[in-house]
Amino acid sequence: MGLIVQKFGGSSVADADKLRNVARIITETYKRGHNVVVVLSAQGDTTDDLIEKAKEINPHASRREMDMLLSTGEQISCALCAMAIEVLGCPVISLTGWQAGVQSNTGYGNARIKRIDTERILAELDKRSIVIVTGFQGINRYGDITTLGRGGSDTSAVALAAVLHADLCQIYTDVDGVFTADPRLVPEAHKLEEITFDEMLELATLGAQVLHNRSVEMAKRYNVDLEVLSSFSGRPGTKVKEVVKIMEKSHVSSIAKDKNVARLALVDLADEPGIAFRIFSLLSGKKINVDLILQSIGRGDKKDISFTVAKSDLEDAERVLEENRDYIGFDRIDVNDNIAKVSIVGAGMMNNPGVAASMFEALFNAGINIHMISTSEIKVSVLVDADEADRAVRVVHRKFFDEIAGQNSL
Ligand code: ASP
Ligand code: MG
Repeated sequence: MGLIVQKFGGSSVADADKLRNVARIITETYKRGHNVVVVLSAQGDTTDDLIEKAKEINPHASRREMDMLLSTGEQISCALCAMAIEVLGCPVISLTGWQAGVQSNTGYGNARIKRIDTERILAELDKRSIVIVTGFQGINRYGDITTLGRGGSDTSAVALAAVLHADLCQIYTDVDGVFTADPRLVPEAHKLEEITFDEMLELATLGAQVLHNRSVEMAKRYNVDLEVLSSFSGRPGTKVKEVVKIMEKSHVSSIAKDKNVARLALVDLADEPGIAFRIFSLLSGKKINVDLILQSIGRGDKKDISFTVAKSDLEDAERVLEENRDYIGFDRIDVNDNIAKVSIVGAGMMNNPGVAASMFEALFNAGINIHMISTSEIKVSVLVDADEADRAVRVVHRKFFDEIAGQNSL
């Protein structure tokens, strides 16, 4: 007997039938003798609908009141799920973030979990109750409800699994696990049995929408055994862990696409020390994350610096740079938001030269132009035109999972 944390995403609890299905999965786990803590997201598009409702009343509502509103979605799904479990005859109790002891900092709308006082949960588990906790929310030191950022229920689940020393944290969703590429884009993509925390973290950050990236960070830090699986198919999912047994023969585990990028280029900067510092400290002062960065070689006494930001940060980024035009010293800003980032991720590429070249070859053969490149030990990202991104994913997938994997097969 062990302790299992099961998290169900919005699509898994979207309506009464789906809630009944989730209640069945939970009670089956419970009846096998496990203690079960459940974390739920809001039903379907509830959170989006609540945001729309708020906009109708006040497009500039305070973040505190937004959290007060958005946190209700999870409360609904938790109460309904508890009711569905009651029908199945198992002891159950649903708790809000506050009741479950989830303490956060004060960052309304994007709060971080600081600690979880597990007393109440442990007392309920002692009574052999199934404990259902609202995901995505906590309580701050003012006694206010906070939310953890969109998709934050994954993080709630992993945090609970960490503090409760759970044997397993299962993240149930509407797909079978983590795939070699988005199966809607690449029909021959296949599910991975295992993936490392580092790969998953890169993928979560690079646009694969399987897991909230902070949840992966936390799982890695506290070594939480994670599994991503479908609440519908009953098939085994993808295990996320520190080290995996089988490496893909192609050295690449998965391919991700992110359309939420915009490229800015500052043209004709002075070629002297301190320019990059000025640009990027201004941006970080506005909490704008910069991703790919490219600096040209000097031409005479001039140079250019290009970089990418999330599309949602584009306006702010342009504004702060324009406001500091004299301080930075540039001729003009060139913007392109009609682009996408395509990335390959794989722990296996670390000691295998030629992986990046294979990706570039696939893109070259397809006539797809690369605007920018960035690499880390376990990923290569390229920036391409938005309307070529899907095709780029397909040709790169074919390269690594058909051609190369085929050559390397034993
Ligand atoms: N309901 C929240 C959202 O849609 C949190 C979550 O689903 O994880 O962002
Ligand atoms: Mg959701």
